[in-house]
Amino acid sequence: MSDKSAVTVIGLGPMGRALAGAFVDAGVRTTVWNRTPGRDRELVERGAVRARSVEEAVTASGLTVVCVVDYDAADAILRRDAVAAALKDRTVVNLTADTPGRARATASWAADHGIRYLDGAIMTPTVTIGTPDAVFIHSGPHDLYREHLPVLEALGGTHTHLGEDIGRAAAYDIALLDIFWTAMTGYAHALAVAKAEGITARELAPFAKGISAILSPGFEELAARVDEGDFSGEGNPITSAASSMAHIIHTSEGHGIDAGVMRAAEGLARRVIGLGHGTDGFLRVTELLGRR
Ligand code: NDP
Repeated sequence: MSDKSAVTVIGLGPMGRALAGAFVDAGVRTTVWNRTPGRDRELVERGAVRARSVEEAVTASGLTVVCVVDYDAADAILRRDAVAAALKDRTVVNLTADTPGRARATASWAADHGIRYLDGAIMTPTVTIGTPDAVFIHSGPHDLYREHLPVLEALGGTHTHLGEDIGRAAAYDIALLDIFWTAMTGYAHALAVAKAEGITARELAPFAKGISAILSPGFEELAARVDEGDFSGEGNPITSAASSMAHIIHTSEGHGIDAGVMRAAEGLARRVIGLGHGTDGFLRVTELLGRR
């Protein structure tokens, strides 16, 4: 079997190229493959080895890191008889983002073919890869994780094993991206409303940073209470939040700007109030959403 300081990277989009580049910089023998040829040119100049096929790529190393757009793409690359046979007894670490269900389905396919499988996600942008700022999360068999961690650490940053349930890294990824995309949607909407009021993005930015600084410590402060089912809203009842949201909706729609996202948030707050929890804090919405 191939040596432990070798890795194969499948998928050379911006993230795959960053991963492969970090492995090369760390002196790990790195074999690369991508569906569209040519994306490996700079990596090969830096010392990566170009594989002519997926089979050739995965047989070059005991560890293959996959990072493509989604699991449909990963399946299109991996789920072929010749590739599965070449991967037998080797390890795949799939850093492609998708759903926990897709991670579990891929792990089941891998087990059926004797392929050792870990799932993971990358929580930071390409520029962080190879630096202390990169954040990687992993899930799956702990022994397998420990075995490959020395090579994965060439990617820099922090690596956290979240548990043996293979879907757990993807579940964290989904929850964290839920925060990110809702916040970005709020920011995009805020910029549109601010612009309609004659405020530029630059003018708003220092105050927007202040809002983000309030959110960040709040996540930790509120977490323990949410886990205990304590949604009390001393000093900040959800009735007040609903009123604030209504002002945003009126201002926004007064300018002809779609307020659909804020209307959805206000609708949740109003439902909580309708259920008799008006003195609770906004996170009572978590409990409402959890009623399936
Ligand atoms: P993309 O998400 O655009 O993925 C591009 C890669 O997917 C290319 O290698 C592309 O190959 C491949 N691909 C797409 N469709 C197929 C297919 N049908 N068959 C085979 N290969 C396919 O770019 P990134 O590299 O940025 O992202 C890769 C993963 O990393 C994603 O899951 C993303 O969510 C995650 N990620 C990215 C971050 C970033 O900052 N970019 C941050 C954190 C996570 P080809 O060149 O042939 O088109």
